Amino acid sequence: MEQKILGLHHITAIAGPAQRNLDFYTQTLGLRFIKKTVNFDDPNTYHFYYGNQQGEPGTILTFFPWERVKPGVNGPGMATNIGYAVPEGSLAFWADRFTSRRVVHGEPGEQFGEQYLPFQDPDGLQLRLIVPTTPDPRKPWTTADIQSDYATRGFHSVTLTVRSITATATILTDIFGYTLVKQEGNRFRFTTDAVAGAAVVDIIEAPGDAAGHVAGGTNHHVAFRVANDEILMHFREKILAKGLHITEKIDRNYFYSLYFREPGGVLFELASDNPGFTVDESLEELGRNLKLPAQYEPYRAQLEKTLTPLKY
Ligand code: ZN
Repeated sequence: MEQKILGLHHITAIAGPAQRNLDFYTQTLGLRFIKKTVNFDDPNTYHFYYGNQQGEPGTILTFFPWERVKPGVNGPGMATNIGYAVPEGSLAFWADRFTSRRVVHGEPGEQFGEQYLPFQDPDGLQLRLIVPTTPDPRKPWTTADIQSDYATRGFHSVTLTVRSITATATILTDIFGYTLVKQEGNRFRFTTDAVAGAAVVDIIEAPGDAAGHVAGGTNHHVAFRVANDEILMHFREKILAKGLHITEKIDRNYFYSLYFREPGGVLFELASDNPGFTVDESLEELGRNLKLPAQYEPYRAQLEKTLTPLKY
């Protein structure tokens, strides 16, 4: 097995009301709700996972929804934008859809030769739909009103904002195997050829930007993907050798994780493909029932009362 970083695994953000978050991502954006569980560090809070049909790494966006969260602000040391790949010719469909559903969105633009449409979720989280220059081969999740010609394919990219690019870029190139391929102004594009989708990281260098803070409508961390937890530990050694702090291996039920803060301030995670999201429910049933890790199973009845009831 090759010891490579396979692009993005998941991105985790903070949201406001759970029902609003669920409605936006499953109905407006048409993602599959693949896991309803709790925050393992705070089981009175949900942890939602959205992805494609298979729940494949590289398509997974996760949220901690807090009913009364205060809004956060993007700034240096944070992941400041999430890009989803969509098919060529689909941006007009999405712009119409966003207009009719009163989704905050901007005008289409072009960056690195790719068309994109910027938009925000109901908490102000910044996202883009991007038409990649080479079509994304991943199979989409489709819904009654978002068919394959329009449906998202999973992540295209994540954008990180840092005050100085050098140290963050070195992590990407020297440890993660990414290559700097393009630059437009203060935006630098890094890609890996280890995987077909979710292979892009953009870094914006913004030395003068005011500090942000992580709260509602901002990203909490970015997880990069490895094939298994053996390779995960190989990367742990590489991070330690750079003189950075990194956690022990953590069992997240659906993957194994390590967390470290990269020198630019962004919280990075490394996450394994194994065991995957079908470890506790079948592919057809993904997202249907509240799934709890073993340590919280004894409190199920209590948690089911505390957690906000959801309508699908
Ligand atoms: Zn994570």
